[in-house]
Amino acid sequence: METREQLYEGKAKTLYATDDPRLLVQHFKDDATAFNAQKRGTIHDKGVVNNRMSEYLFRYLEEHGIHTHFVERTDDRRMVVQRLTMLPIEVIVRNRIAGSLAKRLGVAEGTAAKQRIIEFSLKSDELGDPLLTDDHILALGLVEAAELAQVKEVTGRIADLLTAFFAERGLELIDFKIELGHDADGRLTLGDEICPDTMRLWDMATGEKKDKDRFRHDLGDVEETYQEVLARVLAD
Ligand code: ADP
Ligand code: UDP
Repeated sequence: METREQLYEGKAKTLYATDDPRLLVQHFKDDATAFNAQKRGTIHDKGVVNNRMSEYLFRYLEEHGIHTHFVERTDDRRMVVQRLTMLPIEVIVRNRIAGSLAKRLGVAEGTAAKQRIIEFSLKSDELGDPLLTDDHILALGLVEAAELAQVKEVTGRIADLLTAFFAERGLELIDFKIELGHDADGRLTLGDEICPDTMRLWDMATGEKKDKDRFRHDLGDVEETYQEVLARVLAD
């Protein structure tokens, strides 16, 4: 397989075409953004950590019946993935209320949720990824009703699997974001990445934040924390 032209450069990753129209190369950068890209920086070797961690978690999810875009990791910063037609929404799962939701609702960071929350936002940097209700999604025709039900079902299974996975490693999964799309056969498929950039993880013993919040809020030990989380993920 040959890597061809750059198709897209995003905030955290770059996508390249390959000589196979069904496959892309996903390159993980060290660039970090927060607060709708108002805060920018780099985290040394974040791309390496996020590539390896995403590989590990995609393999784990595949083993447990989740269809993902992962094909193979080719080097420290790159993986081959199936080309997807992405849904125009981001899917956020919350086991506890933290981050922007805690702020918006005026509750303490980490407030317990009586039930798991699945919410959606429009993938739009210009608009700051606004929250979408189910009715917004259906009224705008962003996703069909039957597929929205399927998105919720598969997201629930992913949430159960990831929550258990991290609990075994002494980390509480507070919330996370995923992106889904259709593969060449029209199958709903998990895409993008799963890593400390896209989730909140709190140490179950100490309560310490082990994710991108260390960068967002200048908590220190950012690089070390990414490396530590990777080591905990890789330790069987
Ligand atoms: P952003 O676009 O928010 O800056 P990234 O830097 O992570 O984010 O860019 C990666 C882009 O690639 C995202 O827009 C994501 O939706 C898209 N993407 C992820 N996986 C695939 C895939 N398998 N096929 C096509 N696009 C993908
Ligand atoms: N998230 C993400 N990308 C986004 C928005 C959110 O990966 O564009 C992740 C974020 O890291 C967190 C979860 O989704 O794990 C919930 O984020 P929240 O809505 O609280 O927003 P934030 O506090 O990150 O602005």
